[in-house]
Amino acid sequence: MTTTASNADVRTLRMLVAGAERAPHATETEPVYDPATGAVIAHVPLGNAADVDAAVAAARAAFPAWQATPVVERARILFHYHTLLEAHFDELARLVVRENGKTLEDARGEVRRGIEMVEYACGAPTLLMGETVRDVSRGIDCESIRYPLGVIAGITPFNFPMMVPHWMIPLALVCGNTFVLKPSERTPLSAERFAHLLTEAGLPAGVFNVVHGARATVTALLEHPDVRAVSFVGSQPVAAHVYRTAAAHGKRVQALAGAKNHLIVLPDAKLDQAVPAIIASAFGAAGERCLAGSVVVAVGGVADELVRRLDTAAGGLRLGSGLDSATGMGPVIRADHRERVRGYIARGKAQGATVVRDGTTNGDGNGHAGAAPDPDGFFLAPTIFDRVTPEMDIAREEIFGPVLSVVRVETLEEGIAVANRSRFGNAASIFTTSGAAARTFRERIEAGMLGVNVGVAAPLAFFPFAGWKNSFYGDLHATGKDAIAFYTDQKVITSRW
Ligand code: NAD
Repeated sequence: MTTTASNADVRTLRMLVAGAERAPHATETEPVYDPATGAVIAHVPLGNAADVDAAVAAARAAFPAWQATPVVERARILFHYHTLLEAHFDELARLVVRENGKTLEDARGEVRRGIEMVEYACGAPTLLMGETVRDVSRGIDCESIRYPLGVIAGITPFNFPMMVPHWMIPLALVCGNTFVLKPSERTPLSAERFAHLLTEAGLPAGVFNVVHGARATVTALLEHPDVRAVSFVGSQPVAAHVYRTAAAHGKRVQALAGAKNHLIVLPDAKLDQAVPAIIASAFGAAGERCLAGSVVVAVGGVADELVRRLDTAAGGLRLGSGLDSATGMGPVIRADHRERVRGYIARGKAQGATVVRDGTTNGDGNGHAGAAPDPDGFFLAPTIFDRVTPEMDIAREEIFGPVLSVVRVETLEEGIAVANRSRFGNAASIFTTSGAAARTFRERIEAGMLGVNVGVAAPLAFFPFAGWKNSFYGDLHATGKDAIAFYTDQKVITSRW
């Protein structure tokens, strides 16, 4: 898919370095697609070590003045940025749809979550407060003060091109750090747009930089001596690699990784509420969410009725462009990713799961339901498997597509045990009307983002994104107070006068 020549009709993105757009040093580019039509909408340069050097040098040069800027002034720039994000809200949501394919409603939700991160960061004067204890000994006082680290590198995935970078950028900047973002090469357009808005908001040149690229670009960032910390969000194998490599180069790292989220449904659950929540969790954003529920654990007698209702509801999801208000589910990100998902569906069949609904054979072969989406788009209809066992690949591995597996168990304990066998621990939900069952679930489940009668336990700016097990590598999570700690060092001062 890599090309060296660009289609003359489609522009090639540029890097943002020291407040100005720059042509890349790298000559290789990759096409960026509209997943709903398969059309090439841009080319993204695959930045090399020289591109990374330039961006990091700009961020390093901007650091002394930026960290010396009073925190209220740093926050004030974010207030301006907030105003611009609100003013361009719809445009940004449509851009997310264009490069990612999700529905406009989903994209609006994503932009809103990103804005909430800016709102949280605007409270920096309070969030950055240190602590003081007087008279730790007679006439001796002790206090802690927070300091920014320096240059932070952010590396982000394709599935939330607005929200995930905003888990990092507002807080890192308001703490006094400077930043180099390497957005996903599959969805780089949102980053280009909000970078312009940051500049328009009054951010000094070099405080925020964008270097486009892929694997080699990331490697250059991880190994760069002037990068102090790395915030990464992406798939599990890459997260593990980023964590090890950046740590080996002496950097602070937080690496948020993949998932296999279980949704436990008890016999006392209100199915009228549970079914739409499960459908939205499994098939929202075409299953391309790290908080997507991908395994339903049906407890006791609920299974038959639950599967019947899930099948009906999934059949009602209309495939199409995310910009069409009738669309229930958009395309997946790329044709090769669709092939990968189809491969998992084939393995589910081969390993003996019961096919309830097969997204590879529905409709016209592109698998759509209802009105035909663009045949060149990367569409794949919902798939549901029943009587899946925890050993099957479809129950164990992150598919990151519209595939839902139902595992049948007899008791809540058995259901929790099934979920806890997963090497991932990003999120889990329970559907029940029993407070005692919900509490047992909360206490025993080995996952960090929990939902009770909620299909997607969405992250909030003021709490940490608390992935467990192989869904997270590091110590301090993204967002909330964890992020303030991640983006700062402390001095502890003991004084006698
Ligand atoms: P990905 O791992 O392919 O890419 C993420 C970033 O890493 C991109 O910027 C990419 O350019 C870079 N990258 C890819 N391969 C690399 C390599 N070999 N070496 C160095 N860098 C590399 O992830 P994706 O497909 O863009 O995103 C989907 C994944 O992200 C899913 O696994 C999903 O669960 C995960 N995710 C997790 C969270 C979370 O909060 N835990 C949130 C969103 C997405």
